[in-house]
Amino acid sequence: MIERSLVILKPDAVQRGLIGVIISRFENMGMKVVGMKMKWADRDFSKRHYKDHVEKAFYKGLEDFIVEGPVIAFVVEGIHAIETTRKLVGSTEPKQAAPGTIRGDFAHHSYAYSDKKGIAIKNLIHASDSVENAQKEIELWFDKEELHSYKTVHEKHVF
Ligand code: GDP
Ligand code: MG
Repeated sequence: MIERSLVILKPDAVQRGLIGVIISRFENMGMKVVGMKMKWADRDFSKRHYKDHVEKAFYKGLEDFIVEGPVIAFVVEGIHAIETTRKLVGSTEPKQAAPGTIRGDFAHHSYAYSDKKGIAIKNLIHASDSVENAQKEIELWFDKEELHSYKTVHEKHVF
């Protein structure tokens, strides 16, 4: 039940100066950060990360968005980490995302607006959506030696 999930703070989060406040949300819920880096993805890397989306109408805008600046990628570890991280992140469309979620609190973009402009939904953050995708995404973004096992106080009081 202890899982790892890949989280990416997209270029909008980095350029808006929200790195610290968003990472705090994960620490506050007791997630353990086991790897972290800043990376400026290129178009080829975007296609590998978003391989399930490359054929979709919004992909061009999504690629332009993800390569426009550096991102922060990190791996969190926790109980049902994939599901609990997606809950914290909120719905894909910030307009619909519940208050209290990262997308609901820090953005308000809509599908209608972004599709009309031909840009990706600016929703600050990516999080793996399944155990299988988490494993593949972590392997794509991190080498084995960039991930760490250590003890936190949460293992006594939260886990
Ligand atoms: P996520 O898992 O919640 O990030 O959503 P998806 O995996 O379905 O989509 C990946 C990313 O593509 C989203 O986070 C958005 O930035 C963007 N996106 C998804 N669907 C749409 C869409 O219908 N229109 C536009 N413009 N962007 C989209
Ligand atoms: Mg997704």
